[in-house]
Amino acid sequence: AEASARQVQRMEVLGQLAAGVAHDFANIVQAAGTAASLIESRAQDENVLSLARVIGKASARGQVLTRRMLDFARNDASARAGEATADPAEVVGGVCDLLSRVLGHGCRLRCEIERDGLPALVRSERAELEAALMNLAANARDAMPKGGEVTVRVVAERMTLRHPAGLGPGLYARVSVIDEGEGMPPEVLARAGEPFFTTKPRGKGTGLGLSGVRGFAEAAGGALRVRSEPGRGTTVTFWLPAVTMVRPEPQVRAAAGG
Ligand code: ADP
Repeated sequence: AEASARQVQRMEVLGQLAAGVAHDFANIVQAAGTAASLIESRAQDENVLSLARVIGKASARGQVLTRRMLDFARNDASARAGEATADPAEVVGGVCDLLSRVLGHGCRLRCEIERDGLPALVRSERAELEAALMNLAANARDAMPKGGEVTVRVVAERMTLRHPAGLGPGLYARVSVIDEGEGMPPEVLARAGEPFFTTKPRGKGTGLGLSGVRGFAEAAGGALRVRSEPGRGTTVTFWLPAVTMVRPEPQVRAAAGG
């Protein structure tokens, strides 16, 4: 019990530290974004303009991520989930270009969006879904130093019984990021979703990627599952529940005079 109390205390300190770093980082990223939009407004050269737009987009996403980290530290993921909705096909389709930039030259990206039966809207904030995919793509890239293929797949899944991942019955968008990387040995897999757990060198890993994606999926009423085989690759899957349109109840009016 004493060890776990110490661990809780350590986590609290780390949380505060992360929040401090996130706060400073938000300012840095914002400065870069402001500079990029100044360049965009002044430059003539089409190449310079397009690079400035890339910086602008990257910094916008950096701001989303740092805000996520602040939220994470404040531990109000469920408050954040709120009422936001997103079109999974549209969001994933829209972010593929950026994901292939994250992957760089070494890796190929396949985006498979199976629209058949896919919910038009899921419980998720667009920026959060994008950030989740960026995180998973970065992990896939890091796991494939020799390159390879990364598949991002979105399909519909209708659960009838309770799913082992803890999902109730209903319609979901199932989003998977599949890599052909080095995979994880069991002891890493067991801890991979823990906040601050990382096997990456200092300055490269935060250990907030997978735990953040799990927090995001669970706050939306979904779940996350990681499958990994050393030497073969990793599949990270998360489910987001469909927003079911509730038909408004017909107003049954009591007869006049009642
Ligand atoms: P970070 O990427 O900053 O280390 P994450 O929470 O995203 O933090 O991941 C935690 C750890 O899980 C990583 O350090 C790595 O060891 C392992 N991991 C995550 N994704 C993958 C992947 N696709 N392939 C292999 N290992 C992974």
